[in-house]
Amino acid sequence: MAQRPYIVGNWKMHGTRAMLSEARAIDRAAERLLKAEVALAPPFTLIHAIRREAQLIGVGAQDCHPEDGNEHTGEISPAMVKDAGAGFVIVGHSERRSQHHETDADVRAKAEAALAVGLGVILCVGESTSQRDAGEAEQAVAARLDGSLPRAEHAAERVTIAYEPLWCIGSGCTPTVGEIGAMHRMIRARLVETYGPGGAAVRILYGGSVKPENAAELLGADEVGGALVGGASLTAENFLGIIVAAAEREA
Ligand code: PEP
Repeated sequence: MAQRPYIVGNWKMHGTRAMLSEARAIDRAAERLLKAEVALAPPFTLIHAIRREAQLIGVGAQDCHPEDGNEHTGEISPAMVKDAGAGFVIVGHSERRSQHHETDADVRAKAEAALAVGLGVILCVGESTSQRDAGEAEQAVAARLDGSLPRAEHAAERVTIAYEPLWCIGSGCTPTVGEIGAMHRMIRARLVETYGPGGAAVRILYGGSVKPENAAELLGADEVGGALVGGASLTAENFLGIIVAAAEREA
């Protein structure tokens, strides 16, 4: 891995102020583990509080609305996310795509809107079980990437890709290191095709059932620049196990 491995926790719809102590513990530990770059994406309601208390870790949102403007009751714009203290936003998570019917075009619009206000973007792509079983995983991920990658000028400098096979999220299953490497190489080639030389430096994270026990192995796959972690990011103890594995790889 040329850059520091980037380990991002997606807290999903978990987290009340009681969980701020976990964020503080993660932040304190990150000080000792500078070989890894660490970030948390808590629910919107905790972004400001975590940003205020944490010194070192990045803080991001899990989604944003693609437009500014007033008439979107219940939505949060990229400018509001930034104002709350976030530095990046996750877009296109498979749970947003499946539960909220977000299309590639929606995801791309969100990514473009986030970049326009100066946020970084973590764009999630992945294949379903049936696509994997049909031998169409790479094709499915390539199509998803082509449809949702932002094309704004300098996008490559602020975009991170998270490859998250749907059948691995929260399931305890993971692809083999060889399968992850093959997918990440395909994604890399597509990024270079889209962005030119800038695509070679875009980080590609693996996500799906990453835990302290399998982190070292998964992070060792070809072209893996870090991990997007769901369940195992909810406690400092588990998340730190993953961060330590990432930092030790760089030692
Ligand atoms: C996720 O939801 O982005 C994720 C990777 O979840 P988990 O680590 O729990 O599989």
